[in-house]
Amino acid sequence: MAALRGGLCNARHYYAVSQRIMGCHTHRSVHSMASLPETHEMLRKTCRDFADNELKPVAAIMDKEHRYPVEQIKKMGELGLMAIDVPEKYGGTGLDYLAYAIAIEEISRGCASCGVIMSVNNSLYLGPLLYYGTEAQKEKYVTPFVNGDRVGCFGLSEPGNGSDAGAASTTARLENDQWVLNGTKAWITNGFEAEAAVVFATTDKSLKHKGISAFITPKPMEGLSLGKKEDKLGIRASSTTYLIYEDAKIPKDHLLGEPGFGFKIAMMTLDDGRIGIASQALGIAQASLECAVEYALKRESFGRPIAKLQAIQMKLADMETRLESARLLTWKAAMLKDAGKPYTKESAMAKLAASEAATFCAHQAIQVLGGMGYVTEMPAERHYRDARITEIYEGTSEIQRLVIAGQLIKQFQQLIH
Ligand SMILES: Cc1cc2nc3c(=O)[nH]c(=O)nc-3n(C[C@H](O)[C@H](O)[C@H](O)COP(=O)(O)OP(=O)(O)OC[C@H]3O[C@@H](n4cnc5c(N)ncnc54)[C@H](O)[C@@H]3O)c2cc1C
Repeated sequence: MAALRGGLCNARHYYAVSQRIMGCHTHRSVHSMASLPETHEMLRKTCRDFADNELKPVAAIMDKEHRYPVEQIKKMGELGLMAIDVPEKYGGTGLDYLAYAIAIEEISRGCASCGVIMSVNNSLYLGPLLYYGTEAQKEKYVTPFVNGDRVGCFGLSEPGNGSDAGAASTTARLENDQWVLNGTKAWITNGFEAEAAVVFATTDKSLKHKGISAFITPKPMEGLSLGKKEDKLGIRASSTTYLIYEDAKIPKDHLLGEPGFGFKIAMMTLDDGRIGIASQALGIAQASLECAVEYALKRESFGRPIAKLQAIQMKLADMETRLESARLLTWKAAMLKDAGKPYTKESAMAKLAASEAATFCAHQAIQVLGGMGYVTEMPAERHYRDARITEIYEGTSEIQRLVIAGQLIKQFQQLIH
């Protein structure tokens, strides 16, 4: 572990040096992405070794037992993976979003549950605190959540509204210098383990999405209880539950950002989160492809390895092509963010393409494995179950298409006016 940690510290050093030498590497065009900067290659290798040695051997058992990966998340924290783009002054790793995308992919290749736990802590919890939090909020709710000891969660969805997040019915009212929260947040990843939550509640329902504000709630706290643990198809080592607020009181200064700015904070946070989920999907797709190729080289049918059959080769070619296309979109979205350019459309495209590549690759992998694809002796069936959620959370594929089309039309209109 010490060696891995050392690897990332070195990566940080090289990152600083390469930034000085090349200027900001994120100015590299997408066409020059064929090779990654040295820092990112080192990070990729560190995460890949960690996934091979520490995640792959236990992923199936944690999935079977619905067991939250306490030790693995702790080690990922020691490696700096739980707060990748958080500046070092808050205890984070101080790398960029391209680094984040690469790390999530590699971790998810070993264990997709660890991938989502990491993504939620980095993008959905620490992200909005970093961008909109006060220094006092950062001290209390960022720094203790960077090293894997504690994780946070993000509560936007409700039982009555998921895609239509602007219809939030959880309320917040100001009473004697305290916010009083009432309502239920649904489907909360890390809900059981989280020691704080970024949640969204309306102060004035008549204002619709403009009445929504963001809040930080500690966990546990009086007035906050948890629902049942969801029994899920995939990513079963991560927990998913309800956060139920009943006259839950938080100090006035636990408002995050400006009042009425919550919906905007949620949408901007999801732009980042989608890069994380796209990367999680890439990791699942990559694991599916590797499983299929390895099997095809060993398994013989009609006297020769099935890898020699063109029917199998067509599948492998399609898997690799979809995977690599989605990876380029994901890295492009991350690099645009790192360069301070707009990336809402690109992160939605990345999430759409990568999640569909993951479900495609996982489906084809089972086909390549035949009967062995359908049983738990091989990881293909787990990848198939894990892949499915990437088309649903942080905006379904239908919602990604709406975001992409909306941005595209807006860009067109700006051009012709
Ligand atoms: C395992 C898991 C973990 C999750 N983690 C979190 C979390 O940590 N925090 C959080 O806040 N939420 C979380 N979610 C919630 C997730 O983001 C929502 O499930 C998702 O946004 C979809 O919302 P919904 O389930 O209410 O579906 P609905 O919004 O009811 O949608 C149902 C169907 O209708 C379609 N649809 C809806 N509106 C439109 C439209 N305008 N145009 C076209 N089609 C449309 C959808 O695409 C979908 O196919 C999680 C969900 C799951 C399953």
